[in-house]
Formats: sequence, structure tokens, C-alpha cells
Amino acid sequence: MKGTPITEQLYDYIVSHFAQEDDLLRRLPAEAAARGAPLIHISPEQGRFLQVLMRAAGAKRVLEIGALFGYSAIWMARALPEDGALLALEVHPLHAQLTRENVARAGLSHKVEVRQGNALDLLAALDPRPPFDFVFIDADKPAYLAYLEHALRLTRPGAIIVGDNASAAGNVWKVDATPDDAYIQAMHAFNHRMATDPRLLSILVPISDGMCVGVVK
Ligand code: MG
Repeated sequence: MKGTPITEQLYDYIVSHFAQEDDLLRRLPAEAAARGAPLIHISPEQGRFLQVLMRAAGAKRVLEIGALFGYSAIWMARALPEDGALLALEVHPLHAQLTRENVARAGLSHKVEVRQGNALDLLAALDPRPPFDFVFIDADKPAYLAYLEHALRLTRPGAIIVGDNASAAGNVWKVDATPDDAYIQAMHAFNHRMATDPRLLSILVPISDGMCVGVVK
């Protein structure tokens, strides 16, 4: 294996130098958990990574599929220009409400719209004019391939598409031995499409649970 293993110390170095949470972001997970939300949000260094990718793509219009309680939306909205906009889709009514509340507390309501409903229905109603510059997929895994097709339909050349949990908790490589594991199978199908689709140039980045990143050709 090439590369340097991530130790606890190296991880802390990366987060403390590049991805420190402010007081609001630090408080959000415990507060959301107290209201019943699961703690499956992205990690701080993933938030910074999304910001870096957004800026690299010159992102003004961002689409998030799966908002949970707004942690990732706040990271992303903070990297938007003043005239930028993020549309966050969230199926769970409580999670959509938490996202709206937390985005408001972050002073970002003017940049973030939360739409509650089934993402496939909401996506089908979206028009690619004007196109999105950046799409972050972090929702139910069996629908990732369908989300990716919508992302490709709704973006411009040079846009970036990111799928979270691409390593399936480190187990995605077991795909051939686990035909009944829906999570692994779904993440592998997504990764394979990202890797081979001629419309994309992609790489699986081993950050947190893995982020599959593709640039639209
Ligand atoms: Mg995730």
C-alpha cells in the first residue's frame, strides 16, 4: 500500500489546522441528537474538503441531496459567494426543519433553500437551466445511481459531483463476496459508474468514510 496511514495525531493536526468548527458547528450534533436525529453527518475535514472543491469549481449554485440537520449545508453555504445559492433536499420532515433552523442560526437563510420530500420526485422537477455547479450526494444509498443521473442532467461541464460514504465503512472492496449486502452493492455500483462513465473524471478519496469525487466533462 502506498501512502501514510492516518493516525489520531495526524488527523487532529489536519482538523486543527484546516477544519476547525466554530461554536455553532460544534454544538449542532448533540443538539440534533437530542431531538432524534442520527449522528451520521460529515466530519469537519470533509466540510473543508467540500468547500475547497466548491471554490475550485467556481460554484455559485449548489445542490445537496440529503441534508440531515444542516451541518454539511452550513459548511457549503459558507463557501458560497454572496450571490450564491444552495438547494438542500431532505426527505425527513424533522430533519428538514432542523436544517432550516440551523441554517438560520448560522445566518445563511438567504443562501439556502430546504425542500422537504422524496429526492427523486424533487429532482425530477428541477430544470438544468441554469445548471448547478456542484452536487453533494449524501442520502439513501440504493438511490445513489439515480441521484447521479439527475446530477449529470442538472450540471454543466466543469461542475463537481461528490458522493459520500463511498468506502461503505471500509467494506466496499468486499463487493464480490457480499452479494446480499445492499449497502456495499449500492456503493460499489455508484463508484463503478463514477469511475467508468465517459461523462466524468473521478476518484474515490479516502477521507472519513470515503468521498467519490467526479468532475463533469
Ligand atoms: Mg454520509
